[in-house]
Order: sequence, then structure tokens, then C-alpha cells
Amino acid sequence: ERTVQRIAAGEVVERPASVVKELIENSLDAGASRVAVSVEAGGTEGIRVRDDGVGIPADQLEAAVAEHATSKISAIEDLDRGVVTLGFRGEALYTVGAVSRLTVRSRPPGADAGAEITVEGGDVGDVRPAGCPEGTTVEVDDLFFNTPARKKFLKRTTTEFDHVNTVVTGYALANPDVAVSLEHDGRETFATEGNGDLRSAVLAVYGREVAESMVDVAWTPDAPDASGTPDGDTHADPPVRSVTGLVSHPETTRSTREYLATYVNDRYVTASALREATLDAYGGQLAPDRYPFAVLFVEVPAGDVDVNVHPRKLEVRFDEEPAVRAAVEDAVESALLDHGL
Ligand code: ADP
Ligand code: MG
Repeated sequence: ERTVQRIAAGEVVERPASVVKELIENSLDAGASRVAVSVEAGGTEGIRVRDDGVGIPADQLEAAVAEHATSKISAIEDLDRGVVTLGFRGEALYTVGAVSRLTVRSRPPGADAGAEITVEGGDVGDVRPAGCPEGTTVEVDDLFFNTPARKKFLKRTTTEFDHVNTVVTGYALANPDVAVSLEHDGRETFATEGNGDLRSAVLAVYGREVAESMVDVAWTPDAPDASGTPDGDTHADPPVRSVTGLVSHPETTRSTREYLATYVNDRYVTASALREATLDAYGGQLAPDRYPFAVLFVEVPAGDVDVNVHPRKLEVRFDEEPAVRAAVEDAVESALLDHGL
């Protein structure tokens, strides 16, 4: 049974960044206003995510690390948003605990004491009292210590850290109202303020130069023709509801690397349609060897986005891909035009 559990876990937990992603989602689900991530050796030696969310009462710690542990109706909410994460509902802590040394330490706000539980390679220990601040801290040490085959697939620590950084950055930009920080081997990589301002989050993550080259994107479809569609339905849902965010102005862009963070219905995703439409909007206006920076939030009707391309990947496809492309290109182009291009 242990072996089956380990194999299943190895399929889902690909690398440190996949663990970090699940732990951040749990912190955000817990209503945290601060999420502090710190990793050692790209996350291969240690991962810690601390939040100030609702916490886990001592008598629920064991359930939290058990199979099918979810205390959430997220699957239904996700269905509403048209974005379902596969393979991990109610299983993240359980799955991670099967392939690492996992400690969950928590104190719900107002509780006089905290408690912790440890899982080592699937062996669940006893719940013990623990001194800790309000909120939850999850520590994951020695990822894949008992799955050498999986461990062999890990890349150099700089590569693993790049993946971690991409994930944490993605959540930091999507949640400017949450103070998100990242630390690698004891050194701070970035820390957002959590003041709700996207520009300020961009400044924290990418630095002043990128932040100062940004212009606002705010696109909505033209109001529908009052005559409506032939069958008289004037409320046809447009294929794209809005495109918002920030893009870099070509004249001030000094970035020598492409930074594109795209979100569909508030979920961090990758989609070649979004990337290509963004690049098309610049239409060769960038200086040679300069790349755009963009953080774009696209809202589409829930049923129009397919996330089941691959359970572990962020790639999505759109039913109305040409309309999405056109909207994003138009949105970015108009933003640049508004600023004299
Ligand atoms: P899921 O998130 O799908 O419910 P997880 O295995 O990720 O499944 O988490 C199991 C349960 O543990 C959650 O439903 C939640 O009740 C609790 N939990 C996990 N992380 C946190 C956290 N950071 N703060 C509060 N509760 C948490
Ligand atoms: Mg979870």
C-alpha cells in the first residue's frame, strides 16, 4: 500500500515548485494576508510556507494530512470558474507527506496554544503541542528521500529555484492584496507589500526599471448592438469579458528577458494564444534584444476554457481562441496607443 501511495505521489508531485504551489494555495484558501515562502537548495532540501490564515485546530491536524482530507468545496467553486485543478483535491498534504518529511504546525487565531504533526514517508506521527505564532507553517524536508527514482529527475538547484520563483511570483502578482515573500538559502528574493496595488507588487518582484515602464491595460468588449442577435437575445455572453493588467512600454523597455504572467479567471496559466497575441501587439516596436513585460488578467465565460490539457501543467485552451487572441491583441495595442504609440 505504501508503495502504491509513493508511486501515485511521484506522479503528482513533480518537483519542489509543485509543492510550493499547493502550499501557497492552501494559505490563500485560509484567508492569509501574509504568505512567507522560504526554500533551501531550490527547495530540494527544505521548503517552508508560513501564513497568518485561519489555522488548523489541534484536533483537525490528523485529518488535514489524511487522504481525501479536504475541508473545502473548492471543486464546485472551481467548476463555476471553469478552472479545475486535477489530481490534488484534498490530497496535497497527504501526497507530499508520502514523499518527504512533512510538518504542519498551526495555531488558529485566538487559540491559546499551537500544535503540530509530522509525517515521514507516509508514517503519521502523534499530534504534539508546539509554540507558534497564529496561523499555519508547513515544512517539507528531504523531498523524495524515499523515492530515489523521482529524486534523480530533479535538476540543478538553480533550475529548481527558477521554477519555485516563477510559481511564487505568479501568486504574488495575482494577489497584490496579500504580502507574499520569497527567501532562498536565507536571502530574500522579493517581498510584496500586500497593499492591493498591482504596480507596487510588480516593483517588488521585478524592480523599479520594469515597474516604471508599465502602462495600464483595461479592455472590455464594445457594448452589444441594441438590435441584438436575430433571435432577439440581447444578452449574448461575449467570448471575452475583460482584459486588464500592465504591459511594458516599448520605448522604455530595457528587459533582456521575456516576462509574461497570464491569468485566466484569476488562475495563473500558460497559453500560447495569450503569449502570441501579446507579442503581436508590439508589432516589432521593441528595440532589438528587448523583450516585453506583461501581467495580464483575462476573464472568459467559465465553460469556454479547457484546463484538462494535462493535469500537472498550467497550459489551457480556449473554445473561442480567435476571439481571445483578438481581444488580448486589441487590449495591449490600445494600452500602448493611449501612451503615444
Ligand atoms: P485541499 O486544499 O484540497 O482541501 P490539502 O491536502 O491541500 O487539500 O489540505 C487539506 C486540508 O488541510 C484543507 O482542506 C484545510 O482544511 C487544511 N489546511 C491545509 N493547509 C492549510 C493552511 N495553510 N491553513 C489552514 N488550513 C489548512
Ligand atoms: Mg490544497
